[in-house]
Amino acid sequence: MTTQSNALSSVAQTYDVVVVGGGIAGLTVAYRINNNNVLLLEKEPFAGGRTRSINMGPYVFNQGAQMIPGGDTNVAKLADELGVKLTLINKTKTSTYIKDKFIIASSEFKYLLSLPIPLVEKIKMALKILHMRSRYSNVVDKSPRSGDPKFKELDEKSIVDLLKIRDPDVKALWDSISKSSSTLRADEVASFQPVNTFLHHAADEFFVEGGTVEITRALANQTAARVETGASVIEVTPNDTGVAIQYEQNGIIHSVQARKCVMAIPAPLTLSVIRDLPDAKRAALAQCEYGAMSSAAFLVDKPSEYLFGKGNWRVPVVGMTTIGIGDPTFTFPEDLKLQDGRGLIRLYAGNDGSRMLQQMSDDEALEVFENDLCHIFPAARGLVIERSIKHWPYAICPWRIGRLEAIDDIRAPYDNIHYCGDYTENSGLESAVLSALRVVSELLDCPHPIITNKS
Ligand SMILES: Cc1cc2nc3c(=O)[nH]c(=O)nc-3n(C[C@H](O)[C@H](O)[C@H](O)COP(=O)(O)OP(=O)(O)OC[C@H]3O[C@@H](n4cnc5c(N)ncnc54)[C@H](O)[C@@H]3O)c2cc1C
Repeated sequence: MTTQSNALSSVAQTYDVVVVGGGIAGLTVAYRINNNNVLLLEKEPFAGGRTRSINMGPYVFNQGAQMIPGGDTNVAKLADELGVKLTLINKTKTSTYIKDKFIIASSEFKYLLSLPIPLVEKIKMALKILHMRSRYSNVVDKSPRSGDPKFKELDEKSIVDLLKIRDPDVKALWDSISKSSSTLRADEVASFQPVNTFLHHAADEFFVEGGTVEITRALANQTAARVETGASVIEVTPNDTGVAIQYEQNGIIHSVQARKCVMAIPAPLTLSVIRDLPDAKRAALAQCEYGAMSSAAFLVDKPSEYLFGKGNWRVPVVGMTTIGIGDPTFTFPEDLKLQDGRGLIRLYAGNDGSRMLQQMSDDEALEVFENDLCHIFPAARGLVIERSIKHWPYAICPWRIGRLEAIDDIRAPYDNIHYCGDYTENSGLESAVLSALRVVSELLDCPHPIITNKS
């Protein structure tokens, strides 16, 4: 906590750019502009933001983002350029845990047939999925554009209204898909997010060798910028020569000046530090509320397959605090798993569940997750060796109905301050990287571009 007695560092140094926030968005900007007169400020002791990974046994618990979308996405290309190895997740099963039962099938068609919903609902669902595929496949992982008719359709109604869903079990299925991408129920967000997630699940997904944090670690190591960690930005004020930034580090308040400032922190945090923001911009950013998430992992004394069976990587869970359960060992070599004999299981909770868990001690919250784990897999009882939990108060920015109208204002730079982060697009790593690339092109368009390699 800073106090009035904190020392103020003497002369304000001037940078071409100050980037606020060292998640994948801020780090990508700092890396891409390739200028050594750039300062990146990150409040945590290490950069990476929502890409945080820890080792448990021989495996990796990705506490935040755990999969990279598509082979042709900007984030996958960035990982490749940085020399970070991605492994294709060889998904062979489609599954859901619903009504205390595992529905597991080797094809989408068989999955649909096995769902515990009336036959007429299965037929309706199959036809609607076919329609969704043909109409919206080309908007997956794309930047939402205010004038695009397909984005407009997906923005103005929830999926419940778009697909006219009436059956409670079908609704519960869509809720679980929606919560995994937005933290909110299907009737609380625009169709855009659940449709994107649904189509996306069927596409290629990658696991980062060593954990998702390897991408942000590589960005931090390879950027020409000066990266300061433990540096919490407390005030950002436009002035005659650019932008003044104040940050607190080790109890000392520092002031720096920048020609350009890039805000790469969640919108509510941006609002709390920027002074003199125009009303339209403030109102647009205020629309970007975040949902919370909690993730937990359990190292168990049997290979994960013993519980999951073959071919299951990620299973949505309907009707519990846990909204998804997965096998993070899925992409590890078979001989390593056999030799080690242990497994890892990851569970996560969405907004309401997470907020409830965040009121508890870590041990109590882990008990809730462990009870869910043993309810889903009774054979897991007594097998837990080690457990870990991480809460994310700013996990995902749900796409509320009608937000497309504000998207241009959300993104617009003002007074030499530029805005990036996943919330300026859809959500997820690809969105964060897309937003960073947009900001880099904004900086390139400046009268005096700052994208110059001085090293
Ligand atoms: C549990 C979970 C699972 C997820 N799973 C996936 C997934 O599988 N695939 C996927 O694509 N996406 C996933 N996501 C989403 C993905 O992690 C995010 O979209 C992405 O990491 C956002 O990056 P960002 O740089 O925009 O924001 P962040 O990563 O949040 O970075 C913002 C940074 O700013 C810092 N900061 C905040 N305030 C200040 C301040 N005042 N001064 C200085 N620094 C500050 C923060 O500490 C943070 O490091 C998941 C997210 C969570 C929470």
